[in-house]
Amino acid sequence: MTEDTIKYMKEAIRQAKKAYALGEVPIGCVIVYEGKIIGRGYNRRTTEKNPLAHAEMIAIRKASRRLGDWRLEGCQMYVTLEPCQMCAGAIVQARMDKVVIGCMNPKAGCAGSVLDLLREEAFNHQAEVETGVLEKECSEMMKAFFKELREKKKEGQETSC
Ligand SMILES: [Zn+2]
Repeated sequence: MTEDTIKYMKEAIRQAKKAYALGEVPIGCVIVYEGKIIGRGYNRRTTEKNPLAHAEMIAIRKASRRLGDWRLEGCQMYVTLEPCQMCAGAIVQARMDKVVIGCMNPKAGCAGSVLDLLREEAFNHQAEVETGVLEKECSEMMKAFFKELREKKKEGQETSC
């Protein structure tokens, strides 16, 4: 794990905290090209009432716009939680070189948990995968969010989820 890997995952965590502040499940993502962040995103599913508004999808859209190309060859994604099937699909479609993951998502992840869409040999592109980067920080952020959510529910307050 290099210093840069940690630096970019910290940026992804910073994005996730923006989702947290909105009452969204705290997932954040950045995309790096030639040492520069070219796309950032955080989960806005509830805010936008849009099942496509995952952190990775937002970051991919921004990065593609920035590069002026749907191909994100030479790019690396840093994401706090293992991508779902939709985002893993988009990562393959974008020909992303590498995906660096904070914590795994055993119930829904598609980078090795439920499925491994990023390294499926039958597709025309595979992405390199690195897992467990700042894992504790990423998983504790999720745990804190869901704990808070349960407590709010117990108090009978309205929540956004
Ligand atoms: Zn997703």
